[in-house]
Amino acid sequence: MSAFQSGELVDYHCHLDLYPECEKLFATCAEGNVSVLTVTTTPKAWPRNVEMAAPWRSIRVGLGLHPQLVADRSVELSLFETYLPEARFVGEIGLDASPRFYRSFDTQLKVFERILKLCSEAGGKILSVHSVRAAAHVVRLIERCVDPTRVAIVLHWFSGSNSDAKRAFDLGCYFSINCSMLDSPKGRSLVNSIPTTRLLTETDGPFIRIGDRPIVPTDVKLTLSDLAETTGTSIQETRSLVAANLQALESILPR
Ligand code: MN
Repeated sequence: MSAFQSGELVDYHCHLDLYPECEKLFATCAEGNVSVLTVTTTPKAWPRNVEMAAPWRSIRVGLGLHPQLVADRSVELSLFETYLPEARFVGEIGLDASPRFYRSFDTQLKVFERILKLCSEAGGKILSVHSVRAAAHVVRLIERCVDPTRVAIVLHWFSGSNSDAKRAFDLGCYFSINCSMLDSPKGRSLVNSIPTTRLLTETDGPFIRIGDRPIVPTDVKLTLSDLAETTGTSIQETRSLVAANLQALESILPR
């Protein structure tokens, strides 16, 4: 193996617990040299996910309260607070202002603000943040509620404007990039506007499909090659870059 091929693959946002027979998938990720952040959508899912990930050093679990579920699950915020002291990673959290979820947007704002403040007070947390049709709101709340020396933020599937991305970059945010983002000229322009030291890769599996099956974390190789093509570098260099970015991100904060 050449020096350039070294470095793990990185899937920094997926939902392992939403696949059938997901325990096998935990093992497949670990054996396939994929460093994974698997996010949960409700705090109730936390204990089981922690248990499934325990044998695998390369699999991190995020404590989440998904904005698309906040309408029904905002009462679980207290459970979120109960588990937060034991969570290094937090996600999926954020805001979603698309038509289906807009009716809960006020509640989402309250829940997201509360979570950001709790994480900032606790310190040492790495957050995976959803921002569909709400990029400017998300960036504004990060600006207002987060102490960047205590919390690190990864914007997942970011689809805001290039200027929103620039503001987020200035606040220290990272960006996890998936293959759907690289499908459109707008998405590629956004990705190219972000300094490469802040780029990570993700699948958002199982929510993205490849042909007739859901994407799986080992498919992050495809994202890596699309990202290499978009940024005009080799796959090997991109792989090393993303592995190095992951290391940098995770060593910023004291635990
Ligand atoms: Mn997701």
